[in-house]
Amino acid sequence: MNSERRLHGRTLIVGAGVVGASVAYHLTRLGHDSVVVLDARSRTELPGSTGLAPGFIGQLSATPELTALARDSVAAYRTLSRSGTDKVFWQVGCLEIATTPARLEQAHHDVEHGRHLGVEARVLGPDEAIALAPALVDAERVQGALHIPSDGAADPVLLTHLLVAAAERAGARFRFDTPVRALETESGRVTGVRAGGEPELLRAARVVLATGIWGPVLAAQAGVRLPMVAVQHPYLYTCELPGLDDTFIDAPIVRYPDHAVYTRRHGRRYGLGSYAHTPLPLAPSPDLVSAELPFPDAVFGTALAEATSLVPVFRTTSQGRRLNGVFAMTPDELPLVGPASGVAGLWFAEASWVTHAGGVGRQLANMLLETGELLVDPARLAPGRFASWSDRRIHETALAHYQGIYEAH
Ligand SMILES: Cc1cc2nc3c(=O)[nH]c(=O)nc-3n(C[C@H](O)[C@H](O)[C@H](O)COP(=O)(O)OP(=O)(O)OC[C@H]3O[C@@H](n4cnc5c(N)ncnc54)[C@H](O)[C@@H]3O)c2cc1C
Repeated sequence: MNSERRLHGRTLIVGAGVVGASVAYHLTRLGHDSVVVLDARSRTELPGSTGLAPGFIGQLSATPELTALARDSVAAYRTLSRSGTDKVFWQVGCLEIATTPARLEQAHHDVEHGRHLGVEARVLGPDEAIALAPALVDAERVQGALHIPSDGAADPVLLTHLLVAAAERAGARFRFDTPVRALETESGRVTGVRAGGEPELLRAARVVLATGIWGPVLAAQAGVRLPMVAVQHPYLYTCELPGLDDTFIDAPIVRYPDHAVYTRRHGRRYGLGSYAHTPLPLAPSPDLVSAELPFPDAVFGTALAEATSLVPVFRTTSQGRRLNGVFAMTPDELPLVGPASGVAGLWFAEASWVTHAGGVGRQLANMLLETGELLVDPARLAPGRFASWSDRRIHETALAHYQGIYEAH
């Protein structure tokens, strides 16, 4: 705890998904003793993106800031895993399968890039890759693989519950079933929020929005445009397989960057996701009650059919649950972390993945407490960095990254 730095007054965090929980966790660890977190959700349910994410955690990125945030997150998730009987992160490694000579050559460059960023990686031959994950690696197409041993899989729901529990033990107060209806400002400064059925203002010295895909709705009430776009994304599970036990995961997570497909084991099932479809944005709405939407076969059907023909275990297994989940993207794939321009006391921790949520929480907590111990140059994450961009440019640039998401994440 940094006793030199004291944050006066109450900090209200809106949103207790993995990001809001991480901000509360880091703020209380740094000694801030007045943290209140409000969420419309119940204590047990996670209707936001966190509750749908399959938990792939990859640290190597073309964007060094994402690697710094992911590495810090992995360190935090490993610490949380160690501190209790609940495990939330499995360091099983990641295989990025090359199915073209160009991708294999890229893998060799990625080893160098990883070394520079502190992420160890090496290139495997086809047989080694198949041996590590025979159910997931296509023996017909694999030409080699980039292996990153320190990557792995998280359980995003349990992780969020553990972050909440740790923050509560350190003094944070969580109020669930408490939707925030309005963000109040006076003379260019946030004064608090109106929440639940209570008519009176819940006062705060500062408000942090960590509301995921709902972020733009509340930000707009303070006259702030959040430069993020919500996109819909398919994920498919097999049915439960009789040959598998309850082991959460026992082989690396596997990605096919050439095909925009990723896959892993989930206990008795396997799962896969695909980005190989026309991006499907979703306009922000206060009426949205969940990040899960009806599954649009016409948009996702072909991509999932191709993905299931690529991943061996999906060729021979009946399909189980499939879902359409929504998450947020930004034009440069970096999250929005820091103060709002033009509204004193309003802060954001938005558009972060589970992969980066630990680091995002630490970054924002250290910014609020002015400790000077930052993971990333705050200008790179500044929520106002696209102020000169039109809405249309933000929208188109963010969506253009969708299919190439693995180059960054
Ligand atoms: C299908 C799918 C696959 C994904 N795969 C991965 C993956 O493999 N790896 C990875 O790192 N990430 C993945 N993601 C992305 C990741 O899930 C999200 O980026 C992350 O969970 C966002 O967390 P969050 O806390 O910002 O948002 P959320 O989890 O959505 O939480 C926001 C919270 O804010 C609350 N809230 C909103 N508005 C209000 C209000 N007015 N008042 C009170 N509360 C409010 C909501 O109830 C919610 O609990 C995936 C997402 C999806 C949908």
